[in-house]
Amino acid sequence: MAQLKYKIATIGSHSALQILKGAHDEGFATIAICKKGFERPYKMFNVADEIININSYHNFPKIQNQLIKKNAIIVPHASFVTYMGYEEVEQLKVMYYGNKKILKWESDRNLERQWLKNAGLKVPLVFNKAKGIDRLVIVKFMGAEGGRGYFLAKDEKDFNKKIKPYKLRKYVIQEYIIGVPLFTHYFYSSLTNEIEIMGCDIRYESNVDSLGRISARDQIVLPKIDPSYVIVGNIPVTVRESFLPRLIEMGDAVVKESGKLAPPGLFGPFCLETILTPEEEIYVFEISARIVAGTNPFIDGSPYTWLKYKEPMSTGRRIAREIKMAIKTNQLKKVLG
Ligand code: AMP
Repeated sequence: MAQLKYKIATIGSHSALQILKGAHDEGFATIAICKKGFERPYKMFNVADEIININSYHNFPKIQNQLIKKNAIIVPHASFVTYMGYEEVEQLKVMYYGNKKILKWESDRNLERQWLKNAGLKVPLVFNKAKGIDRLVIVKFMGAEGGRGYFLAKDEKDFNKKIKPYKLRKYVIQEYIIGVPLFTHYFYSSLTNEIEIMGCDIRYESNVDSLGRISARDQIVLPKIDPSYVIVGNIPVTVRESFLPRLIEMGDAVVKESGKLAPPGLFGPFCLETILTPEEEIYVFEISARIVAGTNPFIDGSPYTWLKYKEPMSTGRRIAREIKMAIKTNQLKKVLG
């Protein structure tokens, strides 16, 4: 088994359980790199053959040489990219699964928007100044706090009042699309040039998903409840089947466009974060160019991967299988960034 010469490593957080379990399923030894105090799940579920402790994710480059000696291939996920920053990730010398050059395009909201628009996808309007706000908008902050403090505003006056506590932070003012948020997970193989739908999820966010439990009568008398979008977990969804052709085409389009922006383009897992309206329009408000935590409910596979593989196939396992296939066919460089 050629893959035995290599180990799969990832940071102990986000989707590491399925990445490491998937690597085991494909015959790789595994390493979890854990911030102190975060190692218990990886021990409890027996997915890591080895645990390396670090004090902070920023110290990751310091343990690189250890990983290089162990012939480890890093599988990145959001915690990795968010906490280290894409510039740091680009500098890494350890083997890294995926195209690092695409991270810049997903990390910057303006570049990301350009990517999605060039791919022909529908994106929510963005207002450069508060003055032009003529509809409901969502104000989102940049950075790793994940949905905390986001607020809705209906016009310039409302915006100016609500932005006061956040004046120093970078934000974007985006048209609020009323509909159902849907997160579609894809995998694009640079070895076979095929795209796959791996699954779909909806997110459960605090407090926005619990506001419906308080009646409008009670909400009105409460002094201040602004929605926040702090993710708590993910719920599996099978999407209405007639949406699938469009979702597949959208995946194709972002992959094709990425080839122009950051050759050789996006490959491996990615996710389109969308809102589906009652008019059946699909707005894309974000793209994640790596594994998303929405794939976590599918450690045993999703309905879609079951159709294709007839064996449990998580996105984590699909990554390991791709790496294994690349090793076996002498194309490892093709899947490393
Ligand atoms: P984000 O930080 O961009 O992932 O957004 C966090 C959450 O805000 C999403 O999961 C959605 O629930 C919601 N959201 C983001 N953008 C929009 C939008 N343009 N319209 C409606 N809801 C949105």
